[in-house]
Amino acid sequence: MSGNHGGVDYDYGYCPCTGTYEHRFIEVEMSVAQRNVVIKDIPQGECPICGSQVYKMQVMERIETLMRAERSSERT
Ligand SMILES: [Zn+2]
Repeated sequence: MSGNHGGVDYDYGYCPCTGTYEHRFIEVEMSVAQRNVVIKDIPQGECPICGSQVYKMQVMERIETLMRAERSSERT
């Protein structure tokens, strides 16, 4: 485990509409265990032409991990 998070390559490729996904950071607000949780600095690709949005697989895993942590902290 090197813990290297600095060299993540945010390459989202191309949108089916022929646009190119642009990399940016967003805030995601979601409801977990009847609480609103805001997760900041989520890397996201967005197509400037059609507005289609994509996430990296590791980003989805990170969100799921955070949601799981929120749920488990609710029980204590
Ligand atoms: Zn598009």
